[in-house]
Formats: sequence, C-alpha cells, structure tokens
Amino acid sequence: MKDPLLSVGEAQKRLLEYFSPLEREIVDLEWSTGRTLAEDIVSHLDLPPFANSSMDGFAVRFADVAEASSSHPVVLQVVADIPAGQVVNRKLQPHQAARIMTGAVLPPGADAVVPVEDTDFSQRTPGVPPPQQVKIFNPIGPRGNVRPQGQDVHFGEVVMQSGSLLRPADVGFLAMLGIHQVPVYRPPKIAIFSTGDELVPVDQPLMPGQIYDSNTFMLISLVERYGGKAVRLGIVPDRAEVIQRTLDRAVDEKVDLILSSAGVSVGAFDFVRSVVEDQGKLDFWRVNMRPGKPLAFGQYKNIPFIGLPGNPVSSFVGFLVFVRPAILRMAGRKDWKPQTQTVRLVEPIDSDGRESYLRAIVSRENDELVARLTGHQGSGNLRSLVEANALLLIPSGVKSLPIGAETQAWLL
Ligand code: AMP
Ligand code: MG
Repeated sequence: MKDPLLSVGEAQKRLLEYFSPLEREIVDLEWSTGRTLAEDIVSHLDLPPFANSSMDGFAVRFADVAEASSSHPVVLQVVADIPAGQVVNRKLQPHQAARIMTGAVLPPGADAVVPVEDTDFSQRTPGVPPPQQVKIFNPIGPRGNVRPQGQDVHFGEVVMQSGSLLRPADVGFLAMLGIHQVPVYRPPKIAIFSTGDELVPVDQPLMPGQIYDSNTFMLISLVERYGGKAVRLGIVPDRAEVIQRTLDRAVDEKVDLILSSAGVSVGAFDFVRSVVEDQGKLDFWRVNMRPGKPLAFGQYKNIPFIGLPGNPVSSFVGFLVFVRPAILRMAGRKDWKPQTQTVRLVEPIDSDGRESYLRAIVSRENDELVARLTGHQGSGNLRSLVEANALLLIPSGVKSLPIGAETQAWLL
C-alpha cells in the first residue's frame, strides 16, 4: 500500500508530537545568549532604581528657574557637587542648585535638571570644581531631564516570559535586574551522519566520481545556528554493521535526536532501515513539498531519528521545515513558526502544486519588498541558496504565479 501524501503542516504536527522541552539548568549570565528562558523573570528592582539625571547639568527646583531667559538669567547658589554613584542628602532650598552628572541621584528637593548648555558653566572636565554660583538661561519643566524611579520597570513586574530566546539585549537587561544566573532549557544534542559511497571527507583528495560531504557541515552549522549541540558521526557506508555502530555511538553520546542525510528514496535506504527497525521503527513520509519530498522518521533505541534527503538544498529545506521546529521545541522555545514577510514577485513563477520553498533574493524597491529567484532551482545547486536571502513560499495547489502577485517569503 502506498503511504498517503502528507501536507507540510500535517507532517510537522505529527513529528512535533515526539518532542518536548528538555530539562532545565542554570547557566551563568555571560553564557546565556541563544538559550531559552525556562522561567518567567520577575523584577526585584525598580528601573531606574532611583530618580536620576539624564544630563550633565544642575539639579534645581524648577519653580526657581521658571522666568529664566538669556537676557534675564536666574542666578542660583551651588551647594553640592554630585557625581554618578554618590548620594547627597542635603536638601535643596529655594535658589539653590547642585551640579550633577548623568546617572547621578537627584538630591532631595530637586525636581529638574538644567543641562550645562543652558548655563554659564559648561565645564565638564573631571576634577574641575563646581562654581559657587551658576546663571541659568532657560526655564525647565517639572521632571525635565530626570529619569524617574521605576519609569521603565516596577518591582514585582513580570518582564520576560519563559520560552523566550535570550538575545544580547535580554542578557544586558537581566544584568540590569541583578540576575547573574539564568534558568534555561538544556540545549538538544544532535548526532549527524551522511550516507553515500560517493562522499569524501572535506580534508581528503577527491577521486573521479566522488564529491565532498557538504551536508555534514551544513547540518552541523544549522544545528548550532538554532541552538543545538552537534555531534559529528561522519560518513557512513552502506554496511549494516557500520550503520549500527554509528547509531550506537549516537546512543552512547546520549543525543536527543539522530539526523542523517541522503538515501531516503525507498530502496536506497534499506540498510539504514533494517538496522533502525531492528531496534526501533522507521517510516517513510511522503510530504507534499518541494524540494525534499521524502522524509524518513522513526526511532532507534527510543531516540528520534530523522532522515533528510541527500541533495544539499533539499536537506537544507527539510532541516528548516522539520528539524528546526523539533530543536526549538526541545530547547523550550514557544515560537517555532518562522516569521515571514509579504513580497511582490517581479518575475512569474511556475510551481508544480506542491508546497514549494524557492531560493530568492528579496529586496526593497519603492517602499515594498520584491522577490526574484536566484537562478535554476536544481536541488543540488547549493550556490543558488548561497546567493539567496530568502525562501519564497508557494502554497500547495498553486501551479503558477504572475508578475506582481504577492506571496510569503521566509527571510534567511
Ligand atoms: P541520495 O539521497 O542518496 O539519492 O542523494 C541525492 C543526491 O545528493 C546525490 O547527488 C548525492 O550525491 C547527493 N548527496 C548525498 N549526500 C550528500 C552529502 N552528504 N553532501 C553532498 N551531497 C550529497
Ligand atoms: Mg546516496
């Protein structure tokens, strides 16, 4: 009996049922980039933690300088000098000011900061003592140039959600909150091997009829790019005992997923199939997509196994569509769906009715995003993928799109 043809969405759904978030662990903040938060983060601080100046200038009582102008400057007595990091408790009385630096705590009584540019004392050189008096040339409103306590974050507020990716700004923000150890999910460990008698390791000479094993490197790179840890198992010949030894190495390494490339067309994969089925199960899925229609999915000794197609572009697309969501799910991410953009075609496109992922260049022209293909779409032509910055999504059932049609693009 022929297997049913699965839609991409159906295949993704079936596959994701086998994956769930891995255990949690604590990492030092400095190594947390790219990891996924495993808990909501509640702030134990107000941010800013205290009202402070956003300028170098003079802390004042705004009412004192309401009438200031360049022809009639207001003269204030300077009673304190407040660098960042110091607290001055002396309360400003009417007609008093304190010199203050950016980030320094406002003294009691002050409610605004006049920038040095609006005074007769524009010296900012460190070590230069403040003047005894300062002339103010411009008025300032209440809270002018003051960053109020709690303006950005309140104590007790949930500021980051479990399941979100930690980016550099998030890491900085966690530090701002005084958090130096971060609860994250363990990154998935993923074994990678290639099959095919024509394949040669990249550091060996190429003999007639041979090609370099590029998929291993591309898949390692993809795994690392999406937050997994790759375990490289190399090139595996079509010999049952070697295949079995390779799979058992993956088991010893306690990987969370085994990934192979090539030979997924039924028949060619018989060795892998027989070894995997001996200790688990393996199904061939016919997915209604282009490139990368056949996909092998199963388990070896209870470890999920995904067999991607051999053609490099098919392997790449198969990874993005199926392996990426599995990695993100294991890594604890909630948002595994890719972000796409609407683009307008500047050339007609033929498709064959399968859900297609075509290599394209997306650029901005006259305030809209337009897309063109990067040459011939042979699934062995990795160069056309290198030249692309997006995959153009042509929905299933669509056989052609005219110039000017809109479609979705997955920016790479
Ligand atoms: P297969 O899936 O074994 O029929 O392979 C399909 C095509 O992909 C063939 O042209 C293979 O030579 C090529 N191919 C398979 N594995 C790799 C690999 N690891 N790196 C580069 N090309 C490969
Ligand atoms: Mg092959």
